[in-house]
Amino acid sequence: SFTLDHQLALAWLRAAAAAVEREQQRLTDLDAAIGDGDHGSNLRRGFTAVTEALAALPADAPPGELLTKAGTTLISKVGGASGPLYGSALRTAGRALPAPTADLTALAEGLRAGLTAVQKLGGAAVGDKTMVDAFEPAVAALERAAFDGFSLREAAALAAEAAQAGARATVPLEARKGRASYLGPRSVGHQDPGATSTALLFQALADATGR
Ligand code: ADP
Ligand code: MG
Ligand code: MG
Repeated sequence: SFTLDHQLALAWLRAAAAAVEREQQRLTDLDAAIGDGDHGSNLRRGFTAVTEALAALPADAPPGELLTKAGTTLISKVGGASGPLYGSALRTAGRALPAPTADLTALAEGLRAGLTAVQKLGGAAVGDKTMVDAFEPAVAALERAAFDGFSLREAAALAAEAAQAGARATVPLEARKGRASYLGPRSVGHQDPGATSTALLFQALADATGR
């Protein structure tokens, strides 16, 4: 695919749901170490509902509508911090995307708007040991790739790598936002669960574009 259309948005969100399902235990284990051990089950519940909600949308729904639907579904189904945060990101990105398809530049802009919504809601900056630590470098990679004239597929692969590196880089950090911040210095030495799931979501986009 050269642009994000209905098919690719659907493939992305389904790949995300499958990744969350597959990695549920790992996300929960990471959250058990520095949080309350529910990140995997929170996202699993949320993305199962997303998959169901998307199946009810018309076949010609624009990609932005799919992302918006996924966002509102996560907000209503996930009680933890990650539900409203991911939900706002997807809803904001979805509303920003042009119809019927979004090119790489538009996708990068939409996801930047989604990241800004996360930061407005949660107040986290890069380095606070949250999902922002993976989300920001991934969006920056998309923006750079768009500027450099890369394809959506190449851009998504670069964003997935950047998100993964960002998630790994949370290990030595002390958490300053979310539940893990209650641990103070004891949060050091663990990878942030939300940054880890953000890396899965960008890997899902890369997988979907590679098909
Ligand atoms: P809860 O902490 O309510 O149980 P989850 O376990 O589902 O929610 O999600 C935890 C993740 O949410 C954290 O690992 C972190 O990445 C992310 N998170 C928590 N608070 C914030 C925040 N204020 N800003 C950005 N991300 C946050
Ligand atoms: Mg939790
Ligand atoms: Mg919780």
